[in-house]
Amino acid sequence: MKTYWQNYIDGAWVDGGAGRIDVINPGTGEKLAEHALADAGDVDRAVQAARRVHLSGALSDLRPVERGRMVQAMGRYLLEHQGELARVLTLEQGKPLWEARIEVEGAARYFEYYGNQAETVEGRSIPLGKSYFDFTTYEPFGVSAQIIPWNYPVEMTARSLSAALATGNACVIKTPELTPLSNAWLAHAAEAVGLPKGAVNILCGLGHEAGAALSAHPEVNQIVFTGSVPTGITIASAAARNVVPCVLELGGKSAAIVHDDADLEAFENDVRWGIYFNAGQVCSAMSRVIVHHSVYDELVERMVGVARSLTVKPGIEQPEFGPTMGAMVSDAQRDRAAGMVQAAETGGATVATGGRKMNIPGAYLEPTILRNVTPDMTIANDEVFGPVLSVLKFRDDDEAIRIANGTPYGLVGGVFTRDLDRATSAASKLRAGQVFVNEWYAGGVETPFGGYGKSGYGREKGREALWNYVQTKNVAIKLKT
Ligand code: NAD
Repeated sequence: MKTYWQNYIDGAWVDGGAGRIDVINPGTGEKLAEHALADAGDVDRAVQAARRVHLSGALSDLRPVERGRMVQAMGRYLLEHQGELARVLTLEQGKPLWEARIEVEGAARYFEYYGNQAETVEGRSIPLGKSYFDFTTYEPFGVSAQIIPWNYPVEMTARSLSAALATGNACVIKTPELTPLSNAWLAHAAEAVGLPKGAVNILCGLGHEAGAALSAHPEVNQIVFTGSVPTGITIASAAARNVVPCVLELGGKSAAIVHDDADLEAFENDVRWGIYFNAGQVCSAMSRVIVHHSVYDELVERMVGVARSLTVKPGIEQPEFGPTMGAMVSDAQRDRAAGMVQAAETGGATVATGGRKMNIPGAYLEPTILRNVTPDMTIANDEVFGPVLSVLKFRDDDEAIRIANGTPYGLVGGVFTRDLDRATSAASKLRAGQVFVNEWYAGGVETPFGGYGKSGYGREKGREALWNYVQTKNVAIKLKT
């Protein structure tokens, strides 16, 4: 492991104006490396480099198929370096090594998908009678600023970077200060596939310094942010002052409704992935389960079984797919989650299993199930962002929907039933950008994803995401006839 990592600006690896930051391995609590820390001057240099690329036409004037091929090649580069990249990702983020490999595959898939889409961004002609020829084109915004969270640093960067490049934007990425190392492979990928210098700039910096400087920069033309609601509001406010569009993906408190006719045994697998994948640090995690009262006790018992079946240890010791979970991203995030569990207990919830910090070095929290949670409790409304599942009870379908829709969030929702009418009715009533029926996380890169309510606006994934990165131009030509 390299001990010092630099930022990547205008095709060069450079130190940061704000010095360095320690990167900690949350699996052991030990220092892993140092990373250059960008200041506002570095941000400005990166934005100016991206702007030069944009104005030169080096990206936007390319035939889309050529740009698309480069984007696809970036994905292949990540797969070719999957082993080393996954290792660093695990060491800086805490997730099991097998999960880190899945993340790299997911990142590569974004480049494959959006690389493929590059040549499908077509305008249309609009009939205005024989005296006119009118058509629309889609043009890139120019400089796309992307502020990345620490839970999926590689995949989240890939998600916005691939779509932005495919549509011809030059990019400035602000990596998360907790997990900046793995983003270096995205810079290497951009270089390897021959993108012009300055088309991809990647820098680590503190949110309130580099992040704030980037989101308020007057030459940034579009912003993508994934993270917390308060930061989202700050960034959207900065964007509004410059009148530039934003995509905001701000987390959730997503609920699975489990009916009495659901396949409870199959649901164990949804619990395993829905709340314990990445130690629950997933914006679309299944953090609430709302269960029909008649199967409540049986389901709680099954879910407790899933939680207890997981071995929790350093991610680097978990090379093979299996019933394992890693550390959370930091002691602070773990302590915050443990504190929320404790407050829930004080407020009347019961810890069915887990709930405690583990007595080993590193940011570990036991896989946790809370029962007797009621909709009014803080734990039923606030995002924990950890391996903590709240179980609530319902008596009729309307009550289940009311509880599911009862938080300010609206990212995803789920309904588990063998009754198709019930499932489709719930799907239409759930206020969420994506609804899973009988499988949590059903869907893929192809399916649009994004929030209702405080979960944000704009869509990532799918063809919908492309429209975040382009603006429509209409050309109306007066003919002589
Ligand atoms: P955060 O929202 O503060 O940070 C996310 C990113 O925004 C980081 O890159 C950070 O440097 C940057 N940032 C912070 N302040 C900024 C500012 N003023 N201007 C511009 N950029 C800024 O999130 P966090 O502190 O890392 O985590 C806190 C909570 O956020 C978590 O507990 C969780 O609830 C939520 N979160 C959600 C997601 C998600 O996928 N939706 C991801 C990470 C965190």
